Amino acid sequence: MKKILIIYTGGTIGMVYDESNKSYQPFDFKQIFNQVPELKKIQVNLSVQSFNPPLDSSNMQPHHWIQLAKAIENNYEKYDGFVVLHGSDTMAYTASALSFMLENLSKPVVFTGSQLPVGEIRTDAKENLITAIEIAASEIKGKAAVPEVCIYFDYNLYRGNRTSKYNSEKFEAFQSVNYPVLAEAGVHIKFNQQVIMKASGKNLIVHTELDSSVGILKIFPGISKSWTESALMAPGIRAIILETFGAGNAPTDNWFIDAVTKTVQSGRVVVNVTQCGGGRVEQGRYETSRHLEAAGVVSGFDMTTEAALAKLMYLMGRKYAGLRLKEQFQKDLRGELTV
Ligand code: ASP
Repeated sequence: MKKILIIYTGGTIGMVYDESNKSYQPFDFKQIFNQVPELKKIQVNLSVQSFNPPLDSSNMQPHHWIQLAKAIENNYEKYDGFVVLHGSDTMAYTASALSFMLENLSKPVVFTGSQLPVGEIRTDAKENLITAIEIAASEIKGKAAVPEVCIYFDYNLYRGNRTSKYNSEKFEAFQSVNYPVLAEAGVHIKFNQQVIMKASGKNLIVHTELDSSVGILKIFPGISKSWTESALMAPGIRAIILETFGAGNAPTDNWFIDAVTKTVQSGRVVVNVTQCGGGRVEQGRYETSRHLEAAGVVSGFDMTTEAALAKLMYLMGRKYAGLRLKEQFQKDLRGELTV
């Protein structure tokens, strides 16, 4: 029997409704086998570890990503795969971060969670949990079917660093617009093998240094000079993600161009990621992005904001700076961008 470790970090899946506070709060996850008796029937040897205390994922911080990466490292040889239960709100960020931190992964790390707690009658938790376990235990020709960090939600398996949470109401909470689904679960689980990463065969390397001196500036019509300047030049920030319009476009006012140019000249790295859910940044395609290219802004191509943020923290944690940081940022490291 395959051995799978479930790591419960928190999230709605393991919450109960507290009448006194009129809000959802985490419960002791050891009760999971009572809540989901089906787990006893699965032909997989399951173990559970829990974060203490469990977190609503809005409270997830980079040090929790490190804790998670270490939990996987410490148990890597003992298990065939990992299921990470996590709140959906920041799941795409954590999955993106883990994809970079776990280099040469050859075993599945499947994130899942739910929109309704496991104890509620119409819950989506049971299907998500049970199928995530099956995926983590699946083999194709004697090898792990999906040796990558992925997210399973509502019958679809996505590459973790390609997803974003797009819906807080639907059971289908995630989208991966720029990359196809890795698998679909119906009567059978159909793996889309051509788009699943192949294990490198090298030993796992776990990177646990992250540098979170990163900021995100979303461009909007009417954005002011003072807001732009204070965000770009905020003390202690070394890298900025500009969330731009469409194919990477931004205002061409002189003050805006000056602010971006000065930021790049100050040694900060400025990268360009689109606000659109899908598509890619093409600096220079429009007049309204030529000035960004000229200022030395680095294209994020078709990366999600979540992946760009995690990648910068990971690369700066590995002490990449200047030109080498820019080069690495534009490389496809874990399938997060299409070259
Ligand atoms: N607020 C919850 C969380 O992200 C929502 C969820 O679990 O889906 O932890």
